[in-house]
Amino acid sequence: MIKNIRECILVLFFILLLPILVPYSLLMDRVEKRRRRQLASRFVCEQCGKVLGVEALQLADERWDEIVKEIIAKSEPGTRLRLVRTVDAICPHCGCQYLYRKAERTFVVREVSPEWERLESKLDSE
Ligand SMILES: [Zn+2]
Repeated sequence: MIKNIRECILVLFFILLLPILVPYSLLMDRVEKRRRRQLASRFVCEQCGKVLGVEALQLADERWDEIVKEIIAKSEPGTRLRLVRTVDAICPHCGCQYLYRKAERTFVVREVSPEWERLESKLDSE
């Protein structure tokens, strides 16, 4: 009985916090996206020396959407996937791919493991 009351209080507490947690997480998401856009608009590509620009983020979003669609299409129906995004910016001038490091607030060149490269080339060819 006491355990049930504790669980009820915990659930009630969580429900009461939702009006704070949801807007907070939406706000933090917007702040993070703005930081990335600002960084991209001044970040100089390590390969070609040109500024990435906001277009680099859009290219990465499109590329990531394609990757996810292809992975889902090849998965068994009902499979639960846990995906870690592997590209956050693609240089529109040379195609160099970057990952965003949230803690350092910077882009780093994406290191492609031979295994992922094999998988990705399979996705591209099909
Ligand atoms: Zn470049």
